[in-house]
Amino acid sequence: MAVRSCGANSFALLIRALAADYNHDASMNPKWNGQFSCFDLVARTNEKADANSRTVVEVGGIEIGGDEFVVMAGPCAVESEDQLLRTAEAVATAGARILRGGAYKPRSSPYAFQGLGVEGLRILRKAREETGLAIITEVMSEEDVELIAEYADIMQVGTRSMENFALLEALGLCGRPVLLKRGMTATLEELLRSAQIIAQAGNPQIILCERGIRTFETATRNTLDIAAVPVLKTVSHLPVIVDPSHAAGIRCLVPALARAAVVVGGDGLLVEVHPRPEEALSDGNQSLNFHEFRDMMEDLQPYLEIQQNTRQFRPRLVAIGGAD
Ligand code: PEP
Ligand code: MN
Repeated sequence: MAVRSCGANSFALLIRALAADYNHDASMNPKWNGQFSCFDLVARTNEKADANSRTVVEVGGIEIGGDEFVVMAGPCAVESEDQLLRTAEAVATAGARILRGGAYKPRSSPYAFQGLGVEGLRILRKAREETGLAIITEVMSEEDVELIAEYADIMQVGTRSMENFALLEALGLCGRPVLLKRGMTATLEELLRSAQIIAQAGNPQIILCERGIRTFETATRNTLDIAAVPVLKTVSHLPVIVDPSHAAGIRCLVPALARAAVVVGGDGLLVEVHPRPEEALSDGNQSLNFHEFRDMMEDLQPYLEIQQNTRQFRPRLVAIGGAD
């Protein structure tokens, strides 16, 4: 792996983090624009695995990171049995494979709805029994890992918890796949380091999630870093999904961002859907109603078909030249 400067006035380094090099030398330390000092992406516990193979996370017969584009959908928070079961039914009918819903909610305000806790987990379990959908729900504390692992098929780590190292270590032992959201101010290297902690603690079943980052832009809640998808898919073997809801913050933008996720090679989506978004206890502004979700799923079809044979491409990060 060679890194060389591209001129006296240039701050950028040419990168030869070629997928091929990466595949052949799992312990190299690529540098991206000179920002990366240590970049050990080998979240693979089986060193002998085919270097070109990708991690496919399997959840109840659904493969994330394989051939299928997997949509996870549901409300931001589980609010009631009726709300969740109706949503589960609607998203399953529209083609979602996994039901999302927070039972423990990390809220920016202590006065906001904090989730139903264990009652929310019981409702999620009931929805799985009734619809067959797998369940993803957030875990905020290492103390909750064991309990939540009894109910969830995938453990979600939220943006505010990406660097909760005690939680990440506990998830290494939880026996469930983990969906790791990018911290809202985290670099991709930091995201991957967090993934590494989970992997080294014993759990290689990790899905990365780009959910938008904080920038100076205020038109959207966060700025979707769409380039994160091909970059992460190039330098790591983990599945990468996109959460267009938290990136957009406004529901009308969600379908366009979802399209982008398909086209750049994402492995799936995490989308907020609510029976009556205007009455949602959290994130109503960015939640789709059932009709909008169905439309979005239909809208994605032609893009999925175009991408079918090429979705698993790994772009070559041959050179990143900065502007002088
Ligand atoms: C969520 O998925 O509802 C959530 C809280 O997401 P994030 O951690 O990305 O803000
Ligand atoms: Mn939310």
